[in-house]
Amino acid sequence: MGALLLITGDQLSPQLASLKAADRQTDTLLMVEVAEEARSVLHHPKKLVFIFSAMRHFAEQLQENGWNIDYIKLEDPDNSQNFAGEIRRALTRHNANRLLLTAASEWRVLEMMRQWRDELDIPVEILEDDRFLCSTARFEAWASERKQLRMEYFYREMRRDWQILLEGDKPAGGKWNFDSENRKPPRDGLTVPPIPKITPDAITADVIELVATRFADHPGEIGGFSYATTHAEAEQHLAHFITHRLADFGSWQDAMLADQPFMFHALIGLYLNIGLLSPLDCIKQAEQAWQDGRVAINAAEGFIRQILGWREYVRGLYWLSMPDYARLNHLQAERPLPGFFWNGQTEMRCLSITVTQTLENAYAHHIQRLMVTGNFALLAGLSPRAVNDWYLAVYADAFEWVELPNVTGMALYADGGIMASKPYAASGAYINRMSDYCRGCAYNPSEKLSENSCPFNYLYWDFIARHEDKWQANARMGMMVRSWHKMEAGTQQALRGKAADFLAKLG
Ligand SMILES: Cc1cc2nc3c(=O)[nH]c(=O)nc-3n(C[C@H](O)[C@H](O)[C@H](O)COP(=O)(O)OP(=O)(O)OC[C@H]3O[C@@H](n4cnc5c(N)ncnc54)[C@H](O)[C@@H]3O)c2cc1C
Ligand code: SF4
Repeated sequence: MGALLLITGDQLSPQLASLKAADRQTDTLLMVEVAEEARSVLHHPKKLVFIFSAMRHFAEQLQENGWNIDYIKLEDPDNSQNFAGEIRRALTRHNANRLLLTAASEWRVLEMMRQWRDELDIPVEILEDDRFLCSTARFEAWASERKQLRMEYFYREMRRDWQILLEGDKPAGGKWNFDSENRKPPRDGLTVPPIPKITPDAITADVIELVATRFADHPGEIGGFSYATTHAEAEQHLAHFITHRLADFGSWQDAMLADQPFMFHALIGLYLNIGLLSPLDCIKQAEQAWQDGRVAINAAEGFIRQILGWREYVRGLYWLSMPDYARLNHLQAERPLPGFFWNGQTEMRCLSITVTQTLENAYAHHIQRLMVTGNFALLAGLSPRAVNDWYLAVYADAFEWVELPNVTGMALYADGGIMASKPYAASGAYINRMSDYCRGCAYNPSEKLSENSCPFNYLYWDFIARHEDKWQANARMGMMVRSWHKMEAGTQQALRGKAADFLAKLG
């Protein structure tokens, strides 16, 4: 008689807290593929393939390392298709004397785990997930001393805590942040090294067939799956990024090109979030590349800030603010999601490209998520619930703890400024400057009031006017409100009229 451990699909780390606490001789590891989770939103088929295949590979690896594995596949006829049912069945099968868990990354699932303590007649132990660089207690302590929770100050503390990019106690290169060097618009002829592709092995091929059959109703292309599904493959992918792409990561971090869905981004979020890569390892490798003179400080710092800063910050904010955070809707946005979010069929080329690439790859890079789809959802007043469900479904790296603050806080300003000091709202001029999307678009980014003026332009001013009362209290929005007031009444009316017509047709 030993313990039963449940390992969920995003806990695929050999260093998982519960694995470290378990006994290979006596304990059993339970891994389950359940439809209740796979269908919680319309997860992209490639995301499902990625997670199920990585789970199956991890189970094989653990078994080779001498662990007792009980793996329940989705198609197992006795599978109850939910965590609670599978735990009950496994406890009976193995006559286990306790349940050992690592805390779930998502609030809903952690609540479920806590309930098992009351419902099961054996001890249930939930260990903290220590794969992050900032514990929830450390974040709470940091937050409790502040009125405003700005990422930049949190990030500096993390740099000090982990002694990253420091020269003595000063930031390497003399600045904490090299963001001002990391906003270059794309230039013609910019070449981007291709992302390495992995040919699916027999395990992945089986999973592709399974997902294609069982989740045919989930939007997104399953063909061409080429993501890593093992630790070794993910580490090779990271090494390729550090050698071939990191040097240009900083400069072109905000740039968008129609034929480059990945630009110089690392494409590691999916691996970090299920445990195929360790955040500290990614950070150390980037720091080493800078120390060796292989990349400039703006590239290394820009990349490290994303992981040591943003990733840890959004997780801290999530646990500090849940469950209320999921219900926030500061701008009272209620519009349903337009159909083109599920098929990319719109004449707005930036949106069409971003959505099409998303459905193809289960990936879009940060600026596409924030300044194209996110910006549109913000300006059009789309309902945060609907927008969150979409982001959670379509990206292979989407898990609620990281998706929700980014959507509700960063993209939609639905938290009223807890995360961002002002809304990330922009007109067509921003997208035109930072991408090649506007060339060949049916709309003109330089026009506001003509027949084919870019919808972002009038939606932007409508957004400023619609929520004017909210911007009075925000010093960073003052200039835009003043610009709105300087416009002639006729222009204001025409802009709002065009926005109303557009939104009415959005369906
Ligand atoms: C509206 C919106 C939704 C998002 N949803 C998710 C999500 O569901 N899951 C997710 O992991 N990230 C999300 N992000 C953050 C970011 O866009 C992705 O982490 C990134 O695009 C993943 O691609 P990459 O690995 O190539 O990242 P890179 O640009 O190469 O960055 C490296 C890593 O830094 C981390 N990172 C960068 N920015 C952020 C951020 N804002 N928050 C947290 N971590 C960050 C990620 O782990 C990422 O893999 C979202 C951002 C926005 C604006
Ligand atoms: S013109 Fe407007 S809608 Fe068209 S691609 Fe540019 S920003 Fe997008």
